[in-house]
Amino acid sequence: MVRPTRTRRIFFQPDITYFKPAGIPMVNLKETILSFDELESIRLIDSEKMEQNKAGKKMKISQSTLSRLLREGRKNLADAILQGHAIKIQGGNFKMVKQVGRGFGRGLGGGGRMRRFAAGPGGICKCLKCGYEEPQVRGQPCTNKKCPKCQTQMVRG
Ligand SMILES: [Zn+2]
Repeated sequence: MVRPTRTRRIFFQPDITYFKPAGIPMVNLKETILSFDELESIRLIDSEKMEQNKAGKKMKISQSTLSRLLREGRKNLADAILQGHAIKIQGGNFKMVKQVGRGFGRGLGGGGRMRRFAAGPGGICKCLKCGYEEPQVRGQPCTNKKCPKCQTQMVRG
């Protein structure tokens, strides 16, 4: 599946990014991935009851993109619940605009952690899809790079 490359602005990253059905051993558990931008569309539309065109503007995407994100996100959630999958929130093509809530844990990805490595050397670039990491080259944003393993756009990690 080819994902659109337009970066979505999101305003919220949850502290909890993994949900697991009770009573199922990890080995038997299947995971459904919900991306941060899908979750943001669900948050704006379903939780905050925002109009789609307004939510699209907020995320800096067209209403049709917003509506596709929303459909995919709702489908992922529905599939996970109906089939008893764990839900893992990760990845997506987004930029975190404002930190809401306390304490962002490691592994959330995206712009939420940008500040920490803004100074340049010492940072790493990370692929949110397969977990591949490599040192960040000074002056080269991670987002200019593609993961050598799975060709996903990388982020500072
Ligand atoms: Zn990768």
